[in-house]
Amino acid sequence: MASLRCRRDPCGVICLILTYFSVFYADYVVIQYVLIPAYAGSVWCTLHGSVFNLILLLLLACHAKAVFSDPGMVPLPDTAIDFSDLRSQSSRKNERGCEGWTVCSRCETYRPPRAHHCRVCQRCIRRMDHHCPWINNCVGELNQKYFIQFLFYTGMASLYSMVLVVSAWVWQIRNEREADAEKEGEEVPSKHLIVAHYIILLVESVLFGVFVMVIFYDQLVSIITDETPIEQMRNRLMIKDRGSTSPSSTFSSSSSRLPHQASHTRKPKLALLREVFGRGSFFCWLLPLHSSPPSVGGMIYSALPDYDV
Ligand SMILES: [Zn+2]
Ligand SMILES: [Zn+2]
Repeated sequence: MASLRCRRDPCGVICLILTYFSVFYADYVVIQYVLIPAYAGSVWCTLHGSVFNLILLLLLACHAKAVFSDPGMVPLPDTAIDFSDLRSQSSRKNERGCEGWTVCSRCETYRPPRAHHCRVCQRCIRRMDHHCPWINNCVGELNQKYFIQFLFYTGMASLYSMVLVVSAWVWQIRNEREADAEKEGEEVPSKHLIVAHYIILLVESVLFGVFVMVIFYDQLVSIITDETPIEQMRNRLMIKDRGSTSPSSTFSSSSSRLPHQASHTRKPKLALLREVFGRGSFFCWLLPLHSSPPSVGGMIYSALPDYDV
C-alpha cells in the first residue's frame, strides 16, 4: 500500500497535528465568537457559516490527498541491480530511449529524469519539489496538484476569517458603545475572552495566509518555468561552476546543456499547468480529483527501464 506509508518524521507529525488544530480552532472561533454573536438570526450567519465550512472541507480534503497520495515514488527493484557497467550507462540508456535516467546509490535503483532522493522519505521521488512537513510527505509529480490546492484553500480560509473577525469586532465595538450606558461592565470576562480569541485567530490567519501565499506563488513560478527548486539550485550551481572551471570538466560526456534545460523553455505555460492540474476544465483544477499522471516526452514514468539484474 504505497498510499498508506507511515512516515515517522516527528517534525511532520507535529506539523500535521498543528494543521488540524489550527483548522478546527478557526472553525470554532468563527462559529462561536464571530457568527453567532454578530449574525445570529440573520441569513448571513447561515451563509457565512456554510461558505467558510465548505472552504475548510475542501482544505482538509486537499490536505488529506496531499498527505496520503503517492508523490511519485520511484519503485524499488525486486532484485539487486548490477551497477558494474555504470560508466557506460548513458550510452546504453540512450539506446533504450531512456535518456537522462540516473542511478540512486541510496535506493540502489535507476530513476527517471527529474527524480531526486528524499532523505526523509528515504526514496527517490519523481519531479521532486521539496519535502513538506506540513503534509508529512514529499511534494512530487503526483501530488503537487493537491498541495497547491491545499495552499489555495488555506489562503482563502485565512483571508475569509480575517474579514469575518474584523467585521464582527467592529460591529461589537459599535454595539458596546450604544449599550454602554445601560450595562456597565456586566460581561467583562466574556468580552476579554472574545477579544483574546479574535486576536489569536487574526495572528493565525495572517501568519498562515502570508506563508501559504508565498509558497503558492513559488509553486506557480516553478510550474510555469518548468523548474523545481532543486533544479533551480542545481542549475545555478552548475552555471557558477562552469564560470569558474573549464567547460569540459563536468558534463562533457553527455551533452553541453544542463540536465533539465531542454524542455522547459519550449512548452507553453498552459501545457505546463495542465501537466500538474490535469486536462479538465479550470473548475476541476480547484477540486482534489484524480487526474491521470502526465507522460513527458512520450515516456511514461511509471515503468522502470529494462535494467540488467
Ligand atoms: Zn533514492
Ligand atoms: Zn520526502
